[in-house]
Amino acid sequence: MNVTGKTKITGLFGYPVEHTLSPLMHNAAFEHLGLDFCYLPFSVHPASLKTAVEAVRALNLAGVNVTIPHKESVIPYLDTVNEEALFIGAVNTIVNREGTLTGYNTDGRGFMRALSENDIFPDNRKVLVAGAGGASRAISYYLSEKAASLWLYDTDKTKLEKLASDLSEIRDNIRILDSVDPGDFDVLINATPLGLKATDPLPLDVSRLSPGQTVCDLIYKKTPLLSGAEKKGCRTSDGLGMLLWQGVLAFELWTGTFPPVDIMRKALLSGMDKPA
Ligand code: NAP
Repeated sequence: MNVTGKTKITGLFGYPVEHTLSPLMHNAAFEHLGLDFCYLPFSVHPASLKTAVEAVRALNLAGVNVTIPHKESVIPYLDTVNEEALFIGAVNTIVNREGTLTGYNTDGRGFMRALSENDIFPDNRKVLVAGAGGASRAISYYLSEKAASLWLYDTDKTKLEKLASDLSEIRDNIRILDSVDPGDFDVLINATPLGLKATDPLPLDVSRLSPGQTVCDLIYKKTPLLSGAEKKGCRTSDGLGMLLWQGVLAFELWTGTFPPVDIMRKALLSGMDKPA
């Protein structure tokens, strides 16, 4: 990377940011296209978020991604927030246009692009999303547009009811579950953090799954849920595609250029020590 006085700076605001793979994929794409941009991780303590957002203007950064724990709390500091990010209640991408900061959420569209890339189509299917947190809100907004019915489940009933009630204002296919029988659905998606740690219980009972069902996890790696679903003959998809495609869409917002997706994917896989 050849940083000059003209280089446009993008990056990530998160806390922590040590484990992020985003710099790898964005910098690989900038370099491949010969774009004079670079992407840096910024560790932003929650108490410094407002100052950090003001610094986007002060330092004339081209834009940043926003991750845990700032996706929701960043909204009041922005000048405008686009419609989908407002609905979701979370921003993962900020674009700086001559000092005006606009917030976007590319997670949901990124997830949908990852599904279609894997030939998984929720259209007219019975779809379950386990978890009603930020990631679920982003994907449920788009899934509910396609699915015959979207079934939501979360152990946190307040979040569950809020998501269902918000979605029901724009769709008529939203259902809430008190308990889940995974055998009942065409497409099942884990949007809980269960599976990140080896000691986590399964978010869904895999013994009820059978061939013909599709099971997706938003977690980047092959989780015990996905291994169990594979053994039952289900199609599976992990969260790496969502990570990739939310980045692709953010890159496009900052640069106005569609990036080389395979270069970004390869960079991500190299960061995970996986073969491309
Ligand atoms: P979050 O805001 O913490 O939401 C997760 C929700 O799942 C919480 O409401 C939680 O309830 C609930 N939950 C926990 N255990 C459950 C269970 N057994 N059954 C049903 N619901 C349960 O987290 P998030 O930001 O939405 O992220 C969710 C997952 O998506 C994480 O694993 C994250 O790494 C992943 N993610 C991936 C990408 C990607 O690009 N691939 C992007 C964003 C997020 P409690 O609060 O009561 O525990």
